Amino acid sequence: MTKVFHEKDGNLDFLKGKTIGIIGYGNQGRAQALNLRDSDQVVIIGNRDDIYKERAILDGFETYTISEATKKSDILFLLISDEIMTDVLKKEIKPYLEKKHKLVFASGYTIAFDLLKTPSFVDVLLIAPRMIGVGVREKYLTNEGFYSFISIHNDASGKTQETLLALCKALGTLKKGAIEVTFKQEAVLDLFNEQAFGPAFGQVLLNSIYTLIDAGYPPEAVLVEMYMSEEMAYTYEKMSKIGLVKQTNLHSNTSQYGAMSRGIKYQKLPFKRIMKKILENIESGSFAKEWDSKITKAKYKIIKFFAMKTKINRLEKMVRENLKLKEFDFEELSKPAAKDILQELESIKEEIKAFEDFFYEY
Ligand code: NDP
Repeated sequence: MTKVFHEKDGNLDFLKGKTIGIIGYGNQGRAQALNLRDSDQVVIIGNRDDIYKERAILDGFETYTISEATKKSDILFLLISDEIMTDVLKKEIKPYLEKKHKLVFASGYTIAFDLLKTPSFVDVLLIAPRMIGVGVREKYLTNEGFYSFISIHNDASGKTQETLLALCKALGTLKKGAIEVTFKQEAVLDLFNEQAFGPAFGQVLLNSIYTLIDAGYPPEAVLVEMYMSEEMAYTYEKMSKIGLVKQTNLHSNTSQYGAMSRGIKYQKLPFKRIMKKILENIESGSFAKEWDSKITKAKYKIIKFFAMKTKINRLEKMVRENLKLKEFDFEELSKPAAKDILQELESIKEEIKAFEDFFYEY
């Protein structure tokens, strides 16, 4: 049986006298720091000298450099981006680690795929919220809590489990439930959702949209019907609260019959075969290796550029204007592809062309 921990399983006494250092005051960092402080914990912040640090000061926290915060803390929450975790840990944290330290990760990625090594004399824990930072804070304030995946990678002190559950309680995740997994399982589940379900769902949505638009339906009505009304968001919420199939009872009989009788037409599509390949690629560490390489970073920039130039973005712009909705501009995304990026990708130019064609279609 998978272990799931709740409020009664955590005891805050295990955190008495401990200072918690939050490394990185970003999305998760800010939310988790505020939750821990509201649960009467002593919290300090370690961040580079920039706007995030200013935010922490405005929120009333004592802030330090990452190395200083490491020295002053007993428990360190590593809430910096996964891409720079290895580098920051090596240069700014590892040299100051002592036996007293416990390292808490919010993602199993770097440990699961051997991108960093932690010293054997420190406890290494995972508390990975299944929730964006803003939600971690909101669900704490509303007392609902949020799910987390939790794990212990190294139990040097022999008391890591008690600390882990106490921290979960202070963060507010035990109100909903903390589910025990391994670091690798957490990382794979996260990547699989992003790489298998996410893009498949995107393709289903885009194909639905263009089937209707090509048949002459007004774009405003199509986009509202497919996602802008937020009806799908409600349905998703009901799936989680009532059940994937059971929630269909909230829809009309016509809707239920239509959906259930037509679902069978998709039965033979090779979703599972493609998804199994994606899963194997993640589990074997091939994806982590690919993402870690220099050429992939350049490839990512150019793919993102193509994606931002797709037809749906132009269509949305027109629809949003007509519906009097705010337009969000992500400046760096609209910059033209720099020639030097393309030069870097000369060796994989056919692959890049395939991405350009793929995004051009939509
Ligand atoms: P953010 O991108 O919001 O924050 C990143 C933090 O890293 C900022 O404080 C940033 O500070 C700091 N940072 C970036 N570059 C450097 C650098 N070179 N040196 C030092 N500090 C740096 O990250 P998230 O909060 O999204 O993610 C943090 C962790 O939480 C990750 O492990 C992620 O996988 C995990 N997680 C995230 C979730 C989410 O919804 N976002 C959900 C669950 C887990 P500055 O800009 O000042 O350098």
